[in-house]
Amino acid sequence: MRIEILGTRGHIEPSAPGHMLHSGVLVNEVLFDLGERCFLERGPEAVFLTHLHADHAFFTEEEVAPLQVPTFAPQRWEGHPEVQVIRSSREAGGLTVTAVPTVHSISYRSNAYLIDDGVSRIMYTGDLVSVQRRYRDRLPEMDLVITDGSFIREGGLVRRDGRGRPHGHTGIPNLVRFFSPLAPRIVFTHFGSWFFHDVDGSVRRIEALSGASSVEAAHDGMAIEL
Ligand SMILES: [Zn+2]
Ligand SMILES: [Zn+2]
Repeated sequence: MRIEILGTRGHIEPSAPGHMLHSGVLVNEVLFDLGERCFLERGPEAVFLTHLHADHAFFTEEEVAPLQVPTFAPQRWEGHPEVQVIRSSREAGGLTVTAVPTVHSISYRSNAYLIDDGVSRIMYTGDLVSVQRRYRDRLPEMDLVITDGSFIREGGLVRRDGRGRPHGHTGIPNLVRFFSPLAPRIVFTHFGSWFFHDVDGSVRRIEALSGASSVEAAHDGMAIEL
């Protein structure tokens, strides 16, 4: 399995060399999230979107002709009826892709994806408060998790709406604790503004969370071979 992390910047103004582009992860020939129009130039065989915020699905805020590649998302999008809803598993580009519903936004559904090529199994999450409860205990062991680096502080930023439903992003330390029993390697992407004050220092703060699992910060163009 060849993984390339195309973009590592969250939905924020700051950027830095190596952290310019919004979310996108290419796994073999299949793209996960489409935070930048230019990712289509990679000619993916299919696209799976974690959710329809613009930093993961640029076409929700930019005019673009109907997408010419099979595209799957947790919900429909009025402006692009060609986007299909994924509810369980799909085969694409030699990969088995399984949707795992997550908690992130009040207004948008969200999925993480389990990605299996028959040899390796990884998970890519978009923005994350948590995996939905009924899926939490059913996650398999994985070789690698790529997940949400929005907040370095414990607990991240999680708010509750009038009905008590949480939304936002949990913290990197929380994600390390959650995923460590499941994967020996955790790579953070989708960095929030905290990361950009001192990029080298931020990378070291992430790496310092290594313990049972190795913990790393991604950069735009980072390639991982499994
Ligand atoms: Zn985002
Ligand atoms: Zn989001």
